[in-house]
Amino acid sequence: MLFYSTNQNSEAVTFSQALLKGQAPDRGLYLPQSVPQISQVDISRYSGQPYHEIAFDVIRRYLAGEIADATLWAIVRDAYDYPVPLEKVYERKYIMRLDQGPTASFKDFAARMMGRLMQYYLKQNGKKLLILTATSGDTGSAVANAFYGLDQIQVVILFPKNEVTDRQRKQMTTLGKNVHVLALDAKFDDCQALVKQAFSDPGLDDLSLSSANSINIGRLIPQIVYYFYAFAKGRVENHTEKIIFSIPSGNFGDMMGGVLAMKMGLPVQKFIIATNENDEFPTYLRTGKYHKIEPSKNCISSAMNVGHPSNLARLVALYGGRMDEKGTIYHAADMDLMRKEIFSLSITDQQTRETIRKAYQQYNVILEPHGAVGWAGLEEYLQKNEGENHPEQLCVSLETAHPAKFPEEINRLIGLDPELPKSLEGLDGRQEFVTELPVAYKDFKQFLLDTF
Ligand SMILES: *Cc1c(COP(=O)(O)O)cnc(C)c1O
Repeated sequence: MLFYSTNQNSEAVTFSQALLKGQAPDRGLYLPQSVPQISQVDISRYSGQPYHEIAFDVIRRYLAGEIADATLWAIVRDAYDYPVPLEKVYERKYIMRLDQGPTASFKDFAARMMGRLMQYYLKQNGKKLLILTATSGDTGSAVANAFYGLDQIQVVILFPKNEVTDRQRKQMTTLGKNVHVLALDAKFDDCQALVKQAFSDPGLDDLSLSSANSINIGRLIPQIVYYFYAFAKGRVENHTEKIIFSIPSGNFGDMMGGVLAMKMGLPVQKFIIATNENDEFPTYLRTGKYHKIEPSKNCISSAMNVGHPSNLARLVALYGGRMDEKGTIYHAADMDLMRKEIFSLSITDQQTRETIRKAYQQYNVILEPHGAVGWAGLEEYLQKNEGENHPEQLCVSLETAHPAKFPEEINRLIGLDPELPKSLEGLDGRQEFVTELPVAYKDFKQFLLDTF
């Protein structure tokens, strides 16, 4: 299977090439030339299977011939050693908690697979890699954790220092070793822009740069799996039905996993793409016109403060259009089909807070700001679509982080402190390794040249 660039100006490459490169040379994003299909019979077999078995079967369809089955099996076993609870809220409406991994965010699902796959390929060819990652909170810690201590990989993480919580920061900065963390007085989009500029700078060619952001196809493919898993666990056996997913979204990596799952054959009734006040996507879906939001708005669901989602170019490509990395559309996507399959809305901070309060009072369910954006999106969708608002309709809303990552907000809203998962214990006493950097490309470049 080969992967093409959404800018259509680079050669198609194999999975391992796309994984190690991150972004295509023409600054496009890699997508599979054809989406592998999973039959309904195979999908129905997933129902009794644990997560890692489903992961093996789904991911193998993209990696066939590139990695031995036994190796891939060992990698998924090792990467997915934590639970993936589907928590019932009412009727057949569920929260899927993707927050049980080592950094308590859904980004562990992708980062752990990607780190292990990269290490496998680097061992094969004896090369080194310098991973650059901009983070709005959780990518940084998930990537840091997944790559920490790996031999042939160094990691540099850039984060907007005023937009992450203390706990999120400490998850990145308390590691050290091959994990280098840069704090910038900037927005996430500024951090992302520095990383992108570095990738296209020939002066840095000797450093073998790569990306662990969701622009890397190695992050997207693992994120297809939990949509199959949710359906397998939530469905009724021998019953034909379609599932509704609600996905709190920022850079749209999570959504791309879902849309790819649907294109592979998963019976999806609708994707609800819920954003915070950064509403460039709901507006685009409604009007067909795309305008990024600059600077992005600072909302309490901080990991979704994205004014120009990198993965939008991929979505446009999957619907037959072409958008470049700057957001310019050269060929319109099939907007009618997109609207049929995707519903999108923007949730304000006030709605987010009300949702956290209500979910606790009404259902005894503890949500954090990102998951609450998703849940609010589902509630609004069901209110507006009577036909799908019945007890039998299967709906899964994704909870992307653990509530204990946002203790102040949760405590203010529902008056309790969410229990700290093991993964977050003991951060407070540890030494932090962090470098403050001005928001200028020349300083960033100098840092890279001096350090590596
Ligand atoms: C990254 C992140 C998101 C947004 O995911 P995308 O794939 O960028 O859309 C949502 N919630 C949390 C907690 C995150 O860390």
